Amino acid sequence: KGLKKYFEIRGGVFGRKTGEIKAVDDVSFTVREGEILGIVGESGCGKSTTGKSILRLIEPSAGEVTFAGRKITHLDSEELRKLRKDMQIIFQDPYASLNPRHTVEKIIGEPLLVHGTISAEERKKRVKELLKVVGLSSYHASRYPHQFSGGQRQRIGIARALANHPQLIICDEPVSALDVSVQSQILNLMQKLREEFQLTYVFIAHDLSVVKHISDRVGVMYLGGLMELADKDKLYEGPKHPYTQALLSAVPTPDPDDVRERIILKGDVPSPANPPTGCVFHTRCPQAMDICKTVKPAFEEVEDNHFVACHLFIM
Ligand code: SF4
Ligand code: MG
Repeated sequence: KGLKKYFEIRGGVFGRKTGEIKAVDDVSFTVREGEILGIVGESGCGKSTTGKSILRLIEPSAGEVTFAGRKITHLDSEELRKLRKDMQIIFQDPYASLNPRHTVEKIIGEPLLVHGTISAEERKKRVKELLKVVGLSSYHASRYPHQFSGGQRQRIGIARALANHPQLIICDEPVSALDVSVQSQILNLMQKLREEFQLTYVFIAHDLSVVKHISDRVGVMYLGGLMELADKDKLYEGPKHPYTQALLSAVPTPDPDDVRERIILKGDVPSPANPPTGCVFHTRCPQAMDICKTVKPAFEEVEDNHFVACHLFIM
């Protein structure tokens, strides 16, 4: 609720603050238990920062995060450590997030060591169980990350995230670094695991078709803000926000009768160090009006479960 993350820019000989990057600027949304909430947007739109702020891997500048009735943003580090068991993250580049000098057994078993009081024997057993759950074999336990393919490494990352029976997993571009053929295997695995373990995902990606494939609801971010959020079908079939419309118009569809016109946006995404006033999208919006330059549109529910931040819908 009202989540903000501003990064300071420092420069000069004395490293004085010379500005700030508004990576996430007033984002509010709810994640429902058991759902997959996709968050999509171009690189630099603040989606990863949002995901990491939810877990307080990045300390938010302002706003509140509530998880299962508890305000995460108010917890001290010890309370937060305990709660981390329930909230995990999977990263884009499994290779970078797996210690190359550790065996798979050590990597997957580590969260059990940090949070648990189970014996070494039980830990070994649990690691083997987890390997099976993600489609690997117990003999993989003694191997090192470099001995695996990208897809297998992401399976290891998923196994590690599952170790302590989490409720929520933030998936930060988990398939973006993988070949397309491997992507769908990992997405299917994640979907299967969601059902098997009643997981909730926040699934972050820049690829619209990946998000469409896996999500129940989808939020669209642009320049640090959430522009639109709706059920997947509503969003993909009837996007309301001009930015969503432009994004989706660029996706080829298999339907030959689909004669949608491609909406080409003018200019580049402005710098988050100097975002436009009013609606952050107004410099590129084909439907911008005068009010858009000065007044920031509220993020409002304009139809049942369909949220949009745009003056076209709230006047
Ligand atoms: Fe476009 Fe104005 Fe809507 Fe922003 S508020 S998306 S500039 S019409
Ligand atoms: Mg990112």
